[in-house]
Amino acid sequence: MPINLLKVCKFCGSSGLIPFQGSERMFGMGGRFAYSECESCKSIQLDEVPADLAAYYSHSEYYSFLPLVQSSFPRRVYKQVRMNLFLRTKSKAFEPIYGYWLKKLSPDFHAKIADVGCGNGQLLYELYASGYTDLHGFDPFMEKDSEINSNLHLWKQPIEESEISFDLIMMHHAFEHMENPLETLQACFDKLNPGGKLLIRTPVADAAIWQEKRELWVQLDAPRHLIIPSVYGFEKLSKAIGFELDEVLFDSTAFQFWGTELYERGFALHQKSATDVFSKEELVALDKKALRYNQEGKGDQVCFFLSKSV
Ligand SMILES: [Zn+2]
Repeated sequence: MPINLLKVCKFCGSSGLIPFQGSERMFGMGGRFAYSECESCKSIQLDEVPADLAAYYSHSEYYSFLPLVQSSFPRRVYKQVRMNLFLRTKSKAFEPIYGYWLKKLSPDFHAKIADVGCGNGQLLYELYASGYTDLHGFDPFMEKDSEINSNLHLWKQPIEESEISFDLIMMHHAFEHMENPLETLQACFDKLNPGGKLLIRTPVADAAIWQEKRELWVQLDAPRHLIIPSVYGFEKLSKAIGFELDEVLFDSTAFQFWGTELYERGFALHQKSATDVFSKEELVALDKKALRYNQEGKGDQVCFFLSKSV
């Protein structure tokens, strides 16, 4: 009996799973990894996590554990003024690169904020430099706990083991690396204060590029991506836990097209860059195509904005 028949979808519980195979393409390591696509909600899951999964993260290009880059005092003052102006006016002129999701959340400067899967903590550092005062990064893969300053702590542990509860929890392209979405979402729910917000940024199986190119899709990223929800499957699971799904914002980029094109031509992602396969004009056109896909709800990644009711 194929192993899939014994399993159920981690998002909707359906036992109707369609098997397919993925291969490691970012570094050209190859291999065949058994995945399943849910017939019912269309979410994707890796059937069995390889025992040597860490080997697929060992390339230095993959994980951002480069040293944290800190800002000078004048630069921090500039960033704080700019963030204040941005949050007050919501003007594009003051928008930081992460502004499009931050302005929807608009946390208080004293809010307790967690970043799960924070890597070296650079994003939290940018928030610190912009005036936020109670920031906590969680990543079991960091070397050790560290206190960057009195406003920013990095914890070598999963958030489940923390004693702190938060007003905002964020996961930026970390969710898809976790094996059990129910446990992950439940841990976030338990660690949120009533009225708290959860932001999850992840690839989604609603992507037109996935339906078109299947296992060549660059964000399948076998075997590192253990789960890739559909919007429907994610909504079903998050509501079962007690979350409200406030908004789904598609934020895919031209990467979905040029990365997938590299795989189609038989290159590993780390061998080539976008400009090796596309002209500047073509890349501008692909940026526009990504925007259109996002508006049509068929881009390959989203921001899920969730809340825990008071
Ligand atoms: Zn499903």
